[in-house]
Amino acid sequence: MAFELPKLPYAYNALEPHIDALTMEIHHSKHHQAYVTNVNAAIAGSDTEKLSIEEICKNISKYPMPVRNNGGGHFNHSLFWSIMAPNAGGEPTGELAVAINSAFGSFAEFKTLFSTAGTTRFGSGWAWLIVAEGKLAVCSTPNQDNPLMDIAEVKGTPILAMDVWEHAYYLKYQNKRPDYIAAFWSVVNWAEVSKRFNEAK
Ligand code: MN
Repeated sequence: MAFELPKLPYAYNALEPHIDALTMEIHHSKHHQAYVTNVNAAIAGSDTEKLSIEEICKNISKYPMPVRNNGGGHFNHSLFWSIMAPNAGGEPTGELAVAINSAFGSFAEFKTLFSTAGTTRFGSGWAWLIVAEGKLAVCSTPNQDNPLMDIAEVKGTPILAMDVWEHAYYLKYQNKRPDYIAAFWSVVNWAEVSKRFNEAK
């Protein structure tokens, strides 16, 4: 049972003008596809093929680097596509809004913390909002690591992910990562993040 590239739940141009269509198309059909192809090749013929990508991530220290990099890439991007949507953004409501206020003081403070996690991640990586022991936390990881991994500095269940690899923004924003991060808030699918929060807490 090989992993498959998930279909994007919206068109490549659906996140315009915040994330451009060409970036989305290359990111999904080339970068994410490569992670899927390479993790499948790395686990082909082994018992690992029976496991979910989450199970693999949780025990990632047992696997060689190609599984960590490409399996992480597959999990991270699958989450990333799902937490974005056209006509999205704004602020969360309900229990997630209450939890964000209680963990970070306010939505504005959370936004600053998460944005800073993205801008200060040196080189390639991800910023995360996670649920750890029932509480929300913000962290970042290098490369294609994620907080599910047993090697992660900060562990938890990711409910919001932001890709800060240059391939996620360079065509439109070039070296201006902070401009991409500012635009990211306009495409966050809070309904999906809330759903994931309710499942994780
Ligand atoms: Mn990416």
